[in-house]
Amino acid sequence: MVQVNLKSDILKKDEQYVWHSMKPYNPQATYVVEKSNGARIVDTDGVEYIDAMAGLWCVNVGYGRKELADVAHEQMMKNAYAPLSQGHLPAVELAEKINEMLGGDYVIFFSNSGSEANETAFKIARQYHQQKGESSRYKIISRYRAYHGSSFGALAATGQAERKYKYEPLSPGFIHVAPPDQYREHESDTLAPADLASVKAVDKTMTWELSDTIAAMILEPIITGGGVIMPPENYLRGIEEVCKKHGALMIVDEVICGFGRTGKPFGFMNYGVKPDIITMAKGITSAYLPLSATAVKREIYEAFTESDAYGYFRHVNTFGGSPVACAVALKNIEILQREALFERSSEVGAATLQALQQALNNHPNVGNVRGKGLLIGIELVSDKTSKEPLPVDKVNAVIAACKEQGVIIGKNGATVAGFNNVLTLSPPLNIVQEDLDTIVKVVIDSIHKVK
Ligand code: PLP
Repeated sequence: MVQVNLKSDILKKDEQYVWHSMKPYNPQATYVVEKSNGARIVDTDGVEYIDAMAGLWCVNVGYGRKELADVAHEQMMKNAYAPLSQGHLPAVELAEKINEMLGGDYVIFFSNSGSEANETAFKIARQYHQQKGESSRYKIISRYRAYHGSSFGALAATGQAERKYKYEPLSPGFIHVAPPDQYREHESDTLAPADLASVKAVDKTMTWELSDTIAAMILEPIITGGGVIMPPENYLRGIEEVCKKHGALMIVDEVICGFGRTGKPFGFMNYGVKPDIITMAKGITSAYLPLSATAVKREIYEAFTESDAYGYFRHVNTFGGSPVACAVALKNIEILQREALFERSSEVGAATLQALQQALNNHPNVGNVRGKGLLIGIELVSDKTSKEPLPVDKVNAVIAACKEQGVIIGKNGATVAGFNNVLTLSPPLNIVQEDLDTIVKVVIDSIHKVK
């Protein structure tokens, strides 16, 4: 068993000076990382873990990539900064690359974080309708259980009450609908898009709210932080149709699903849709530097070309799309493509999912094992028939047992609703098979220890 020395000086100082985002909620936050390589992190006591979450679902190419450090150094020496109210070479190259990956006619706005990418998308959606003479359209539809960020607009779009209720009232104009949930309320994958109850609910919401008040709907292809909630196959197509019918823009949040997490360059590509706006962060640089992007269809961008005082997008951020972050993103994408990591995520993700399902489907406390690519959720229950969520102390015990055996996994869901019961796996896409096998073995073993 691995013993972490909680009394070490560093841990004491950490406790004294660092305000951690999830402490004391996160029972795993009992170590301080000193170094990392591949899928492994090492704490200040020299204890090594396999990071089965790639940090916060973000270190897609794994830790310790010298190429990324080199390109950052080179770019800093060449040109450390130029604002994007002007322009610089890495931003041009990266925007062109992202557009190529999206396979369409998109224009890219850069920011620093996923939250900002979503804020940017909301502002663009609202202003776009104004530019087109439909100034009554301001409402943004989003889903319960989804997370879209920590700033006021992105948090307003978030559908997890526990993250919001101490800060409310947040930005007005955000309306929530229930997400589809293939485990708890199965909808057939063969149903036509318009026949899905979860799609009809969005259609009705837009009608009842009055179509001409709706600016956009935001959704992740697969809800990640809310507990890896899978949609029926035709759900995104249905949402695309409903958005078109009501004149609303479809914003897809690819902050986690993008850059190979679900086995495709972007998660929406699994579902045959063409979103109006796509937001991305995390895997865009594999978290080596902060960067995010809001990709917008050219026809939307073209509504912003008036040069009068209000006709352009009045939105600036100092660091967004810095030359160094863009250069790192370009190299990161080169690595993802050169090492075929999207394909790898799809292949090893499917094999890992299958291994977990085979071992766990009959376990009395495992309700559902699901995922796509290297994005996997294991929903723990007290009772397989009633699907009553496993109490959080037992879920935490599984996570602690994994950590004791050297594997860091995640826990996601919705605390307020009692659904804090989904174990999550989202390792670096280049994780070696041996480490994946260890994760599978340790997770199975730890779940078997639940009493
Ligand atoms: N959207 C999704 C789906 C996320 O998971 C997150 C963060 O976890 C965000 C947006 C916000 O990103 P950031 O933390 O970079 O602001």
